[in-house]
Amino acid sequence: MPAPRKKPSPPKSLRTADKLARLGLSSDMALVLHLPMRYEDETQLLTLREAGLRHGSTVQVEGVVVDCDVQYRPRRQLVVKISDDTGLLILRFLNFYGSQASLMAAGKRLRVRGEMRHGFFGDEMVHPTVKAVDEGAPLPDALTPVYPAGEGLSQALLRKAIAAAMTRIDWADSLPGALRERLGLMPFEPAVRLLHNPPPGASEGALLERTHPAWTRMKFDELLAQQLSMKRAQAARRQQGAPVLASVGELTHALLAALPFSLTGAQQRVLGEVRTDLQAPYPMQRLLQGDVGSGKTVVAALAATQAIDSGYQAALMAPTEILAEQHFRKIASWLAPLGVDVAWLTGSLKKREKEEARARIESGRARLVVGTHALIQHDVGFARLGLVIVDEQHRFGVAQRLTLRNKGVDSVPHQLMMSATPIPRTLAMTYYADLEVSVIDELPPGRTPVVTRLVAQERRDEVIARVHAAALEGRQAYWVCPLIEESEALQLQTATDTHALLTAALPDLRVGLVHGRLKPAEKQTVMDAFARGELHLLVATTVIEVGVDVPNASLMVIEHAERFGLSQLHQLRGRVGRGAAASVCLLLFQGPLGPVAKERLAIMRETTDGFEIARRDLAIRGPGEFLGARQSGQAMLRFADLETDQWLVEQARNIAQELLSSQPAVADAHLARWLGAKEDYLRV
Ligand code: ADP
Ligand code: MG
Repeated sequence: MPAPRKKPSPPKSLRTADKLARLGLSSDMALVLHLPMRYEDETQLLTLREAGLRHGSTVQVEGVVVDCDVQYRPRRQLVVKISDDTGLLILRFLNFYGSQASLMAAGKRLRVRGEMRHGFFGDEMVHPTVKAVDEGAPLPDALTPVYPAGEGLSQALLRKAIAAAMTRIDWADSLPGALRERLGLMPFEPAVRLLHNPPPGASEGALLERTHPAWTRMKFDELLAQQLSMKRAQAARRQQGAPVLASVGELTHALLAALPFSLTGAQQRVLGEVRTDLQAPYPMQRLLQGDVGSGKTVVAALAATQAIDSGYQAALMAPTEILAEQHFRKIASWLAPLGVDVAWLTGSLKKREKEEARARIESGRARLVVGTHALIQHDVGFARLGLVIVDEQHRFGVAQRLTLRNKGVDSVPHQLMMSATPIPRTLAMTYYADLEVSVIDELPPGRTPVVTRLVAQERRDEVIARVHAAALEGRQAYWVCPLIEESEALQLQTATDTHALLTAALPDLRVGLVHGRLKPAEKQTVMDAFARGELHLLVATTVIEVGVDVPNASLMVIEHAERFGLSQLHQLRGRVGRGAAASVCLLLFQGPLGPVAKERLAIMRETTDGFEIARRDLAIRGPGEFLGARQSGQAMLRFADLETDQWLVEQARNIAQELLSSQPAVADAHLARWLGAKEDYLRV
């Protein structure tokens, strides 16, 4: 066997290109659009005496080396002393190369930048940046950019690569002058040049805060590219065929007649929007937003009956087994009496049950299928899938949603996505620019708003007494155990301990326990007992977060509320206030709380409006965290900030529409520039 040949190491320039590519900087335009995160002011030079008065701040000085020496105590280090006419400064380097020592040999003139410190032997800097210069060497006349960098990429290298790219790109402005003037935007080239090399006198504050007009231009361009690409994707989708679900027929009318309530105005409006979409020959992509308890399920069911009435199947997918089961039970209780075969499919079914369900789905006998992501596994084939409904869509990845969409036989099924985590308007406009959005902005009548109180953990005993009192009045309560992110086992332990403790503290009450590790059947037994009123108190982990619907429960206790996300607290709180009784939510917290935690809990006390909570949550946390890791990776904006740049988002959206209809060539040019720089704005 021939010995494996040793690979020659790649040329240095190639390795640099690789490193740049790792940062997504593989084209000249990408380099040019790699903008500084901050600047260093190297336009000023202080004398050593002046610098000596500025301990703690970063300064630039110049001096001649009078001594350069390796010391070994307290640890090995290079110690360099420089002086000018006014004083002396010690430079310390704990890690250094031999070449550095020769660069800083006695007699050399050094320009040094670093933080001034007061050392035992006098003024000093640790690990300053150092450059050998000739006497009288000119100072830069612009602030020096500091770029986001990756491993092994020095600022010097990035600066060089970017400066070179700037000499090669086509600077033509992608926006026509008239449009720029109308919007008050800077031209492209001066904006970009200014951001890379701000002239003296440019406001460093405005640059750092990204309020400078040059930044505004970049943000607008970025948002416009995103809007354009999403609108294009939407248009492309319209080219795909979808089954025309034209018939609002017998089954739909029978369901409406059988419901124990009539639809709210908001439900009717939203249902009208969905109906119109389903009758179109291209796939619906609609996001149905509605606060917890606003009644999304029935709208979903009525969309499903329209598909069934039109001779197609519908599928409803939920992120967790407990939520899927809730849907299944509710919808089956509506549709089974009307003669509809509703199939149930999750991963935890026995093999035989799974096969049986699959057979009914494949033959088309099952008209509606409810389940978890087991629905999108490859071995499930639908006979005639016309509509896919995805609950809590933000919990699924895009890929998962797409798989279900591809289960249509000769056309793409319509998609209805539901979310009880209301997404603020700006966020919806950017992240879901390719979706139609319907909002149920009204709760069914007869609900009483939940009163929320913050209670310090020390007063837990009073809270237990309160649970007791509520139970004596015939009401039921939830007790949600703290979220322990690091360890599911620990979370389980806490729930078990809490259950034991509350059972002991409330000997005359029946206390149940539900958590994620229970088998589905066990879970259901407990939930059923609670729903039938056989349990006074249900101790739970966050498994009850979504969907659980027990109208008689009117007290919710959440321990360590400070550890939960706001939308999660809102979801949990939504489990009460579902009946006529006045409901209370007690948020137990462990003090002392930091200012952010205080503000977050205050929001929960001040409002029960999920949209308002989402908006304020976004303001505190920023969109990346708000959407969670799954979403934020997709279309993260680099420059624009959805909270502070709302106005720009709206502008970009309007202009995108305008350009696509009246100046498509401008849209093309703009997209080409920005997509060439970053490809993942384009989403499916
Ligand atoms: P969510 O939007 O949180 O999914 P659900 O669909 O679970 O809300 O509805 C919450 C509760 O309100 C359910 O018990 C449901 O049957 C009931 N409901 C839905 N619509 C109405 C209505 N128009 N009038 C009265 N009750 C309704
Ligand atoms: Mg729901």
